[in-house]
Amino acid sequence: MRMSEIDKSNYSAEPLIYGRDECGKFQGLISKAALTVIEKLNKGGYNGYLVGGAVRDILLGKTPKDFDIATDARPEQVVALFKNSRMIGRRFRIVHVRLGREIIEVATFRAAHSQSSASAKTSTDGQLLRDNVYGRFEDDVWRRDFTINALYYDIRDSSVIDYVGGVRDLRSNILRLIGDPEVRYREDPVRMLRAIRFAAKLNFKITPSASIPISSLAYLLQEISPARLFDESLKLFSSGYAYDCYKGLVEHDLFRHLYSVGGELNQSDSFDNKFVLSALENTDRRIKDGKSVNPAFLIAVFLWSTMQRYYSEYQRNGLPARVALLNASDRTISAQITQLSIPKRLTLAVREIWELQSRFFKRTPKRANRLYYHPRFRAAYDFLVLRSVNEADLKVLGDWWTLYQEVDETQRKNLFGEIETH
Ligand code: ATP
Ligand code: MG
Repeated sequence: MRMSEIDKSNYSAEPLIYGRDECGKFQGLISKAALTVIEKLNKGGYNGYLVGGAVRDILLGKTPKDFDIATDARPEQVVALFKNSRMIGRRFRIVHVRLGREIIEVATFRAAHSQSSASAKTSTDGQLLRDNVYGRFEDDVWRRDFTINALYYDIRDSSVIDYVGGVRDLRSNILRLIGDPEVRYREDPVRMLRAIRFAAKLNFKITPSASIPISSLAYLLQEISPARLFDESLKLFSSGYAYDCYKGLVEHDLFRHLYSVGGELNQSDSFDNKFVLSALENTDRRIKDGKSVNPAFLIAVFLWSTMQRYYSEYQRNGLPARVALLNASDRTISAQITQLSIPKRLTLAVREIWELQSRFFKRTPKRANRLYYHPRFRAAYDFLVLRSVNEADLKVLGDWWTLYQEVDETQRKNLFGEIETH
């Protein structure tokens, strides 16, 4: 399906141009590095525009996270202009320009790719492959996903160029796909995940025609490489809107295409799992408070019910607890990484969080002390406390460990005395 098949009769042939008065202040909000890149492109005789998320976020009064630039300069020409730059991507080359600590992504205008199915489009390393068809400004607009992501800012006259009604949609809090949603999802199923993420992050409503087809096309995510899916899942759950993303994913039947192991529906794939919901709320709160989050924590939460199911199965079959736990962890994780390629450092952390759970029960002074100094203690303790929202009998244990951390040495001794007398 060629993108040129998008029915553009729904759109005006001429773009809407919003001047300085209508789109507010940009200049101070664009990073110095991004400005430098655009200025240099323009001086070099090319056209460089700020595009995508940065334009969207500035128009919404938010601080952009990164700056994407679109240009009519070919990648080789961009590289020739900037000393610290290099081409990335295999079939479609994007240029990364490094200025100080920042990396600015510069993409040459291109027309839509011409492959007919999504299956052939991701390489083994998860890169989205596109045909190497450079295009004009007008072509570049139509290959983008949502109208609000297809706005171009021109620093020369401080204007926003809008071919697709993106500014109107921004003002009405609407997330609208460019073109026929079903066609666009088939072309790149990851757009379904992006729809959920942007709707959650911006608190926008997905248009019905873009929302309705998702659940029946969700299976297309199976064609996406586990590496790319993992990247997307990180963005979904570390956006600060993990709770809303999760809700959107479950509602649209997408979550199980990220986290479902052993072919069975994961028990966490529901709204009424308080454990999962509280973990998501916690994660969002931490991000809002400027604290760090380790993605391993949520992964451990998502996979917990499956791991537990295997664990009980192995124990019923007569394996000792420790071995049963190791086997259950292995089985859960090896199944999961065929779906999402979770890096080893994270799966190791997930295993540790699980493994430490049983050690919280063994409360002798020596063992408690050793556990307390385990590098994964804090995450495992948080995990234990969260579990008590579903498993009420863990509440007493969680409270004990809370106290343990708060009191001094002498009081700590009394804590053990209490266990022994009970
Ligand atoms: P953020 O960076 O805040 O996640 P963004 O909109 O900048 O949001 P990027 O992934 O950085 O998202 O992509 C930059 C731009 O490239 C998007 O705004 C969009 O125009 C285009 N784009 C990215 N991914 C796709 C896709 N899968 N299909 C079509 N266009 C895309
Ligand atoms: Mg971006």
